[in-house]
Amino acid sequence: MRIANWAKTIKNNYLFQTVAEKTKKFSEKNPEAKIINMGIGDVSLPISEFVVKSCLEASKEMGEISSFRGYSPNGGYDFLKEKIQEEYSQRDISLDLDEIFISDGAKSDMSNILDIFSGQNICSIPDPVYPVYLDTSIMKGLKVEFLDANEENDFLPLPDFSVKRDIIYICSPNNPTGAAYSREQMKKWVDYANEYESIILYDAAYESFIQDSNLCKSIFEIEGSKSCAIEFKSFSKSAGFTGMRCGYSIVPKELKRENISLNSIWSRRHSTKFNGVPYIIQRAAEASLSLQGKHECEQNIKYYMKNYEKISETLDSLSIKFFGGNSPYVWMKCPNGMKSWEFFDYLLKNLKIVGTPGSGFGKNGENYFRLSCFGLHENVSEACERLRDLL
Ligand code: PLP
Repeated sequence: MRIANWAKTIKNNYLFQTVAEKTKKFSEKNPEAKIINMGIGDVSLPISEFVVKSCLEASKEMGEISSFRGYSPNGGYDFLKEKIQEEYSQRDISLDLDEIFISDGAKSDMSNILDIFSGQNICSIPDPVYPVYLDTSIMKGLKVEFLDANEENDFLPLPDFSVKRDIIYICSPNNPTGAAYSREQMKKWVDYANEYESIILYDAAYESFIQDSNLCKSIFEIEGSKSCAIEFKSFSKSAGFTGMRCGYSIVPKELKRENISLNSIWSRRHSTKFNGVPYIIQRAAEASLSLQGKHECEQNIKYYMKNYEKISETLDSLSIKFFGGNSPYVWMKCPNGMKSWEFFDYLLKNLKIVGTPGSGFGKNGENYFRLSCFGLHENVSEACERLRDLL
């Protein structure tokens, strides 16, 4: 019996685990300290009342012989897929129901999708970015090349037509930098992928935070994208479903490689290894896309974006450089040339604030720091006061 090679080479600590361990150690040593956590990107507001109501109704249905449901259909219930289809049609994107696959979230989808690709592929991963892409590519044995994202390119790397890549991860708006591609920029990636027959894995987990109408909300807004892209969406941040678990992937039927439809092999993989999202959760996701549900979820997004304003005003007043505005994160430059983990320790020790060191998202994240806007207003305000006082 042998252990997989990746298990012997992969870095031991997942970024958020290290942050959690350091924070735990600090609070054990300083039990009186009121720590404000602006680190992990989890939501803090409860899910909308309308969504809760739909969960209760769906739970009751499960207790009645006439309305009880067992296994969900492969790929999810039509009632939810129809709502998603409607969302896309409002943006002039037409989707068939069997191009939509309901899942338990974008994290699983973005790693599971690699099952349908050969391990010989070379993939491009932005640096910095959500660490899951790199870890899951390593687990799959893929060769990884990085796309440098930095201040010079506004944290939005564009394709280099002189090199061929097979799989390209795009996260827009990006976690952690918050940078989001315009439609013109995305067209360049789509043209590149069609030229080289690459596949774009487009993570739109933070799409609902986009404020600027010139930015791309779905890759399928771009002409030619259906022959080269797969899109991943999540209800985690748009509807507060981090603990409910629901997301979906869109694999267009036009998408083919080696004469094989990726839609059919993804469907085959999905139905073999996954038995569906609970009925109650799919009803809840459906409710979050209804008129009332959407309105309530948007209120939560506005609430978090108020935190963005508060933090950005504070950093402005301190003349600290930062980036963002279309995502629930503030991507700031560490003051006085501090390294990311050095600034983490400094903030924790002196201000009792926890954030996420930029270097944990890739080498280009060194000297940067991510502050999450998902906190409660009172905590964010207090954190801002502490920042003003000390820095
Ligand atoms: N994609 C990005 C860029 C994320 O930052 C996250 C979570 O923080 C996810 C996906 C995970 O989404 P889900 O909760 O749907 O698994």
